[in-house]
Amino acid sequence: MTRQPMVAGNWKMNKLTGPAVELAAAVKRGVGTRTDVQVVLCPPFTALKVVAEVVARSPIRLGAQNMHWEAEGAFTGEISAAMLRDVGCEFVILGHSERRAGFQESDALVNRKVCAALQAGLTPIVCVGETLAEREAGQTWTVVTRQVRASLAELKPEQLRRTVIAYEPVWAIGTGRTATPAQAQEVQALIRAVLGELGDGATAQAIRILYGGSVKPANARDLFRQPDIDGGLIGGASLDAAAFLEIIGAACRE
Ligand code: PEP
Repeated sequence: MTRQPMVAGNWKMNKLTGPAVELAAAVKRGVGTRTDVQVVLCPPFTALKVVAEVVARSPIRLGAQNMHWEAEGAFTGEISAAMLRDVGCEFVILGHSERRAGFQESDALVNRKVCAALQAGLTPIVCVGETLAEREAGQTWTVVTRQVRASLAELKPEQLRRTVIAYEPVWAIGTGRTATPAQAQEVQALIRAVLGELGDGATAQAIRILYGGSVKPANARDLFRQPDIDGGLIGGASLDAAAFLEIIGAACRE
């Protein structure tokens, strides 16, 4: 089974529209016409439209960092899946640990968002990962299995296939402390096994599982060489075009 590698940049709450256009344009120049790696940019909501204009007619795809689960209505301050589609998004990051921790997003809530995203034709990038305390208590497998099962509850195999998972150990996000390739591979193989239980073997083999957590040009290649690591969700390093392009280069399957 060959899964197209993917590298997604999570810009978080960074970049006003001007710098966002500059960064997207630099990434676009570097990516050129390459399609061996799927590149996704996830700017903040306010920069989605301008970045969409920059990456139009390029292989780069657009993603958002969050959305509401309802289609429309009285949800002040929220953004729906249809609104994301309207400005050109094809992807949406859901269940990021910064949202789980800072905005009390539970697995059940993430599941509602995943279902709404799929229904609207968006590809969810569903984040899972254990905290340092959970890892040290030997709970990594229990926590990650629970997050995968609950976040993807009730999805049909066809919907699972349209979903991307990002394993992001919380202790590695923005800390400069990366999981070793072996640590990441071990958990990502477990995630693929859980996906097989939720769907079937062929479905599990088709789903892309990214690694995220302090991926840099220096460590990307060794991580992406692992059999169950299909690319990366990149935070800090995605804000620098040269670093992000190097990471994209490291994701291609030689
Ligand atoms: C992230 O926030 O998804 C992330 C992986 O961040 P960083 O690369 O900065 O650790």
